[in-house]
Amino acid sequence: MARRYPKNQHLGPTVNKTGYFTHPDCRLHEMGAGHPECPERLDAIDEHLQATGLRDSLDRREADPAPLADIELAHGRMHVAALRGLRAAGAALAATDAVMAGELDNAFCAVRPPGHHACRDTAMGFCFFNNVAIAAKYALERHGLQRVAIVDFDVHHGNGTEDIVAGDERILMASFYQHPFYPVGGARSNAPNLVNVPVPARTRGMDVREIVEMMWIPRLEAHRPELIFISAGFDAHRSDDLGQMGLVEQDFVWITSRIMDVARQHANGRIVSCLEGGYNLGALARSAEAHIRVLAGR
Ligand SMILES: [Zn+2]
Repeated sequence: MARRYPKNQHLGPTVNKTGYFTHPDCRLHEMGAGHPECPERLDAIDEHLQATGLRDSLDRREADPAPLADIELAHGRMHVAALRGLRAAGAALAATDAVMAGELDNAFCAVRPPGHHACRDTAMGFCFFNNVAIAAKYALERHGLQRVAIVDFDVHHGNGTEDIVAGDERILMASFYQHPFYPVGGARSNAPNLVNVPVPARTRGMDVREIVEMMWIPRLEAHRPELIFISAGFDAHRSDDLGQMGLVEQDFVWITSRIMDVARQHANGRIVSCLEGGYNLGALARSAEAHIRVLAGR
């Protein structure tokens, strides 16, 4: 049912089964001088992957802009009038196509602007389109899947994703997030397809791992997702000034490994991970590398 496949932009013959989706246009979007959601975030990841040698083992691809008809699977028409972010959503859709086609086992989308605060009808925070929610709906509607999951380990609550997927029993959303914290206010849904775990500031990795093990994994196992999306925010890192949580690179490794266990069991290993937050450039680069290294089995 997939009707768009990424252009063949492989760098020679490839046995790489982890995709790395990005596009130069993702650097063009500017939030203003000194803003933490800056183009240099993607440079930091890319340069670090190159320096560590991991980039050569990834299947690097560039995404087309997302078609408006696909954006509208998750957003109302008025919001779509704001055209920023089409490449970021396009990367998530192209990654979904490639993983569903079996070209890739999994993929990481190094994109911006991030997406998980973008609600159905409003941009919010640093987010314009909800890349992961669009791709989740796309996997259901365009690829005919019955069940998918969204896992969100950004320090902030993915309120936009919740706004879009709450009550859709085909999608299980599992997250933890610092609370009380941004985004402040707004009704939180008690929809049964949400496993939202608010945690206090200064929560550390061992506590987060217990939450994942005790609260996420049983629900993910029961849901049996055919594809798992990750809202991969790295701002829960202890060095990130935009959050006050205490995760380190090894915690992202552990979480990613547990998600991969579920994906292997139920989803043929299929994972599409999209960058959300992460604003300390060094911690972001190292954490993204650690996450991608697990995805790539390197
Ligand atoms: Zn965040």
